Amino acid sequence: MAITEQQRRQYLRAMGIEVWQQQNSSAESEPELSNAGLLSHDDKIDTGTDNRWNKLEQRVAHCQACVLHEQRIQSVLGTGNCQADWMIIGEAPGADEDKQGEPFVGRAGKLLNTMLFAAGFERADVYICNIVKCRPPQNRDPRPEEVAHCSAYLQQQIDWVQPKLILAVGRISAQQLLQSGEPVGRLRGKVHQWGALKIPLVVTYHPAYLLRAPREKRKAWTDLKLALSV
Ligand code: URA
Repeated sequence: MAITEQQRRQYLRAMGIEVWQQQNSSAESEPELSNAGLLSHDDKIDTGTDNRWNKLEQRVAHCQACVLHEQRIQSVLGTGNCQADWMIIGEAPGADEDKQGEPFVGRAGKLLNTMLFAAGFERADVYICNIVKCRPPQNRDPRPEEVAHCSAYLQQQIDWVQPKLILAVGRISAQQLLQSGEPVGRLRGKVHQWGALKIPLVVTYHPAYLLRAPREKRKAWTDLKLALSV
């Protein structure tokens, strides 16, 4: 859904995000992607109409390929528009996601929603998933073998969605997708390409990190603008 500039400002204001406009200029400075969280999670999962997605969800739900299945409440495949232009890929479900079976529904998810809103998307417009589909205990980093076991599921998701852009949020996602050991600070700021299809990929900070380091939100907004320019 495309929103007008005026609507975007209204959303940002409603969410407590100050949008500054220079006097004598229509140029807008970077909005603060602050404390969001006003979106409800009534988003539709339109993958339900598609049998192959249901089958994939079932396979993941019954997956016992790594130790993460032992402590999960449920697996978390993904949510949103399975024909989306934008695919958002995070790290792994946390406690809230494990309970609700949907990615990015906790505090970090609320900030992600705000970031998407600021970019002109509703949550349901994009497809959101993670590198691994089950919650690592104590939210530790997923281990290489856990990532490896889940990679076929992610590959399948990307192949089916065929997004025009992948937004990799956070270090684990960026490093895995780009097969790089570089920190996010060095991977952001350019358009990478993912896989044989050379899908444009932009890296940004994880919203959980932005909650801890709000000064970096400005850089995240720059990343979103880069993604929008693709
Ligand atoms: N962090 C992630 O990377 N993914 C989620 O789904 C939730 C928090």
